[in-house]
Amino acid sequence: MTITVPLLDLKPQYEVLKNDIQAALERVYTTQRFIMGPEVLGLEQEIADYCNTGYSIGVSSGTDALLAALMAIGVSHGDEVITTPYTFFATAGCVARLGAKAVFVDIDPKTYNLNPAQIENKITAKTKAISPVHLYGQCADMDPIMEIAERFNLYVIEDAAQAIGSEYKGRRAGSIGHIGCFSFFPSKNLGAFGDGGIVTVKDADLAEQVRVCRAHGSKPKYYHKFVGGNFRLDAMQAAVVRVKLKHLDGWTAGRQQNAATYNRLFTETGLVGDVLTLPHESSETGQYIPRGEQNPYEGHRHIYNQYVVRVSHNRDELVAFLKERNIGCEIYYPLSLHQQECFADWGYKAGEFPESEAAAGSTIAIPIYPELTEEQQQTVVQAFVAFFS
Ligand SMILES: *Cc1c(COP(=O)(O)O)cnc(C)c1O
Repeated sequence: MTITVPLLDLKPQYEVLKNDIQAALERVYTTQRFIMGPEVLGLEQEIADYCNTGYSIGVSSGTDALLAALMAIGVSHGDEVITTPYTFFATAGCVARLGAKAVFVDIDPKTYNLNPAQIENKITAKTKAISPVHLYGQCADMDPIMEIAERFNLYVIEDAAQAIGSEYKGRRAGSIGHIGCFSFFPSKNLGAFGDGGIVTVKDADLAEQVRVCRAHGSKPKYYHKFVGGNFRLDAMQAAVVRVKLKHLDGWTAGRQQNAATYNRLFTETGLVGDVLTLPHESSETGQYIPRGEQNPYEGHRHIYNQYVVRVSHNRDELVAFLKERNIGCEIYYPLSLHQQECFADWGYKAGEFPESEAAAGSTIAIPIYPELTEEQQQTVVQAFVAFFS
């Protein structure tokens, strides 16, 4: 019998949580409070505690978290935001929607995160913020980013959509910069039953500014000093996420365990090095080392929203080969943002961000969700062996 391995299967998780989730939804149905109210406030407190930020503001999606954050710091026409071209579209799409420009900086080829060494010479009088992305669940190298931001008086907006609970030198994602943006899209580690997101903030005034942006810029009600949007989080989504949050650390441990299992199995195949590069985890010192069975660097926590490997050749054929064998996989992301048609006006050229373009052509995400069995992981690894031999 062939073993199928979906990229993500949320059904086993739901089986475990069914009763709690139904009870939580029943609370919302009974009170008929669908907009804001105790579920949203409760979640905001719990996420602020979890991320160690003091404040959090529930919003309608990870995309709207970014949009509200950019609005809250006043990004508008003609401004520039420094970010990575190797990320989900929304990171730069939200900048464009406000009439600002995403100024791209290439990635570190080992972690796929923004390379801090290239930030400083991209700063101009128009630069308003730096927006690092914690790609795949691993924090960008935040110390040098914060140092530059302080020196140039810039905001730092963390796109932590893939990184809830991730840590950098003992600090939680979303608590390092001025604002953190999270997504509850179902495929994220903490997913809702639809769209949702949250913004984390340490500063009380900035938190209030995000809150005002969430409700059309209205303060007091029906008086608008500026234009915001309707970025509210549904009470039903908040109720679901509150149930799941209690399980998040257990799921993270499961994902880390699966990553360690892949590392071991792939290393045994002999493919690593020549053909295959495993995910790297960064150490406290900023030196990068392959992840072993145990993470020797206290305070560094990769939450493995994705387990992404790089292959030396035939990536697209590998994708087809895996799909034929009912093994889920995905390319995050096949085209760097500087090459997207809709950003042609920004004037970037192919070849401008070689590391980002190389990653887009050679990486592949394979199943890593917590309920994955070792047998399924072996199936994935054996398929790689079959393909490359
Ligand atoms: C998922 C994601 C977003 C957007 O979140 P949505 O909830 O889907 O709007 C933004 N940035 C990154 C890096 C993401 O992975």
